[in-house]
Amino acid sequence: LSVIESVEPRISGAIRSELDDQRASLKLIASENYASLATLLTMGNWLSDKYAEGTIGHRFYAGCQNIDTVESVAAEHARELFGSEYAYVQPHSGIDANLVAYWAILNTRIESPTLARLGAKNVNDLSHSDWEALRREFNSQRVMGMSLDAGGHLTHGFRHNISGKMFEQLSYGTDPETGLIDYDQLLATAREFKPLVIVAGYSAYPRRVNFARMREIADAVGATLFVDMAHFAGLVAGKVFTGEENPVPYADIVASTTHKSLRGPRGGFVLATKEYSDAVDKGCPMVLGGPLSHVMAAKAVAFAEARTPDFQAYAQKVADNAHALAEGLMKRGVKLVTDGTDNHLVLLDVTTSFGLTGRQAESALLDSGVVTNRNSIPRDPNGAWYTSGVRIGTPALTSRGFGADEFDRVAELMVDVLKQTTPVTASNGQPGKAKYSLADGVADRTKASAAEL
Ligand code: PLP
Repeated sequence: LSVIESVEPRISGAIRSELDDQRASLKLIASENYASLATLLTMGNWLSDKYAEGTIGHRFYAGCQNIDTVESVAAEHARELFGSEYAYVQPHSGIDANLVAYWAILNTRIESPTLARLGAKNVNDLSHSDWEALRREFNSQRVMGMSLDAGGHLTHGFRHNISGKMFEQLSYGTDPETGLIDYDQLLATAREFKPLVIVAGYSAYPRRVNFARMREIADAVGATLFVDMAHFAGLVAGKVFTGEENPVPYADIVASTTHKSLRGPRGGFVLATKEYSDAVDKGCPMVLGGPLSHVMAAKAVAFAEARTPDFQAYAQKVADNAHALAEGLMKRGVKLVTDGTDNHLVLLDVTTSFGLTGRQAESALLDSGVVTNRNSIPRDPNGAWYTSGVRIGTPALTSRGFGADEFDRVAELMVDVLKQTTPVTASNGQPGKAKYSLADGVADRTKASAAEL
């Protein structure tokens, strides 16, 4: 840090302060973790200085032999770890990985009159002037993903993401009674909508998905099954999700992040069957900029770590701890979406439980050293900005060594804070959605207790 400090002290200061914050607070954001020192160090070195657009053995730049090694080792670990035919480790993030996947699906699947007329096998064979017609054909394609309030992600066809512009979208929700995916309903909707792509995967669904059922549904309507396992890749790698809960044998294409439950560097990757691998391999430069070689190297390190028995034990603890956390909250009277969890995340309904919006709860918890994020719940009465939910997860604190007892204490601290948080009435007399007051002393007391854990 002293080297950085001599150049720009504000940056060394921010790094130091981030470390202090991450040590002092309870990091409960379900998509965050603590990467290992080996992973962090692999990101900060000379690999970052090399340009390597293209793919292994086919680069647009000279002198890429070391980057070929890095990318090959990372891809080999990913294939072995997940048991997939092909792995692409270049995507810079989860959104990028999903974009590569969508592109590969369109490229591979479109039965295009334009392509037929031109006698072209796929879009890479087209001249630029043929693109206008093709673009119209692409834009009439359809995608079905989980709705945002049921726990889906923006990249599953929503308007704030390019996927919502590339595709016509229809979402599937969850059963209003159980909060679970209703596979029969999903099949009925898919039969009507006839999507090219069905997306399975989520950011805030606290349950496991049956990917064998998803495969049957995709087959019944001739759709490509695309699984976005960004959130639960660590549970797949750690063999907590096996059989029908492991997406890899069932999906045509799987995209993921590396930095959430998988505990790697910030980044993404794509797994694919042979059918889609050619198109995925053209991700750079079709969709992506030049690979971040230092991050690919760190992915290789993280994948190697994830292939160890220690990581399997970690992944099992992530799931066991989520169960303990959910039990700890429910026994203290908190309403959870789906009344529990069987993955790594828990979704609290703070409006039903405490009369707060997600935003008020998130802020009061943050004041008290508990870092969470507000999140919509199914059919959310407070909308997507204020929300009625708070999402929490166990990957990060499990990396810090927390077990069931510590997570029960976390539940106790959270409930204590939320019970002592009161919404402040807005100036128009309506119940406020953002302002709140926290009883005196609660924030400091909770911070002190959090620091002891
Ligand atoms: N897919 C899912 C399911 C996610 O939850 C997220 C991140 O929140 C992403 C994709 C995007 O990942 P990134 O932020 O690395 O682009």
